[in-house]
Amino acid sequence: MQIRQILKNPELFCEKNFVNGQFFTKSHKIIVQNPATQEAIGEVPNCGSEEVKSAIEAAQVALNSWKNFSGKERSKILRRWHDLILENLEDLAKILTAEQGKPLLEARGEIAYGASFVEWFSEEAKRSYGDTIPAPKQNQKIITFLEPIGVVAAITPWNFPSAMITRKAAAAMAAGCSVILKPSELTPFSAIALAYLAKSAGIPDGVFNVITGDAEVIGSEFCQNKIIRKISFTGSTKIGKILNSRCANDLKRISLELGGSAPFIVFADADLQKAISGLMHAKFRNGGQACTCVNRIFVEEKIHDKFVTLLVEEVQKLKLGDGFESLTQIGPMISNAAIDKVEKLVKKSIENGAKCEIGGTKIEQLFFAPTVLTNITPEMEIAQCEIFGAVAAIQKFKTEDEVINLANNTNYGLGSYLYSSDNSRIWRICEALQFGMVAINECSFATEVAPFGGIKDSGFGREGSHLGILEFSQIKTIHISF
Ligand code: ADP
Repeated sequence: MQIRQILKNPELFCEKNFVNGQFFTKSHKIIVQNPATQEAIGEVPNCGSEEVKSAIEAAQVALNSWKNFSGKERSKILRRWHDLILENLEDLAKILTAEQGKPLLEARGEIAYGASFVEWFSEEAKRSYGDTIPAPKQNQKIITFLEPIGVVAAITPWNFPSAMITRKAAAAMAAGCSVILKPSELTPFSAIALAYLAKSAGIPDGVFNVITGDAEVIGSEFCQNKIIRKISFTGSTKIGKILNSRCANDLKRISLELGGSAPFIVFADADLQKAISGLMHAKFRNGGQACTCVNRIFVEEKIHDKFVTLLVEEVQKLKLGDGFESLTQIGPMISNAAIDKVEKLVKKSIENGAKCEIGGTKIEQLFFAPTVLTNITPEMEIAQCEIFGAVAAIQKFKTEDEVINLANNTNYGLGSYLYSSDNSRIWRICEALQFGMVAINECSFATEVAPFGGIKDSGFGREGSHLGILEFSQIKTIHISF
């Protein structure tokens, strides 16, 4: 497929990098594939540390003027970026589906969700308040204000190639920071399209930059370059820990949004239909490839069999296919490594006593059949690692204490889900769950107005909400005598 031919504005599909307001290319390239067809859709520069260094220097120069823009001035420019993203939603969604594989409907949702962060932070740019603190002495005043932390490096993953960018970059730019973004090498075109629109919106040269290339090389330069004052990372716990330790050297601030192992707890008193539809969304959206996707399902023994029957009925209806086909609900997995991992996990679970109720196999290329496994036990590997695929792995429980222990028995601590109609129980469990986010009779955390983030091995820092801008700000305290 020639992507440019299906876009209203073919320039949005750009095979270049963007630094200091200029698009450029390089002879050394990375080829990008459509995971649905495994065809090459285009190529992007494979930049090394030289290009990263010059991007960082450009961002430093840009910072000096951008930080002096008033909040209102920054707000207006970010708002234009938001408006352009929405005006180009259809094209951006097509680029996203072509490089990532998710159904076009989900891609449209992601673009709108990503735009909501730009809108939110365009508003927050005007509300970056400090404090007035009652001073201990007469004739003294103490005030604080927020300053931008400096040049920011953002590293984003392939599972949400657009929204993970805006929720970092819009917050950073609202705070007055300049940004160098390294998107995933698997899905760079959504990032470059956002850069094209950032330029059209009038974001000054050097304030938003996009570099593609070898992750290790770029990541190392980000960590060791003293100009970078903050790294904002979304990706695996393994890489997050490496970046965290490298940032210790010159005490760079870092935010880490890492892996998860979300429990999904259903009590017999829950509205079962609501729980099933919540699970279908929280387990199977993006083909199960999200850090907040349900990873471990705990169903009260009394309703287990009925729940499984209802779930299998729904899973049977899921339509797997190319994201560009209108009926598709689940697209391909991102890579051979990803599908091989899921296939092995399922096989091993069955060998160890799990029962496959539906699915269980790879269909072709990167397509894995939506799967339901029962008889899962906490010792199985599938109950301990992040599945990151369309496999619903179900365990039974009898008591509240038992399920709290099971749910908390993980190093991860990002999202968690609970379905029950008993208010006392809801509050007890909500307090006991060791996760950054708890959804009760709800199946999504996706909103720009609420803080998003985890604890333990799921990282630290919060994105979105009124807190998001603080991740890119530092406090200056002023003491004045008169
Ligand atoms: P996943 O396993 O889901 O792909 P990763 O943590 O490997 O998660 O990737 C998330 C992001 O981190 C991607 O942009 C990837 O290129 C980047 N990345 C991978 N390895 C490194 C590294 N050593 N340093 C910096 N960034 C990295």
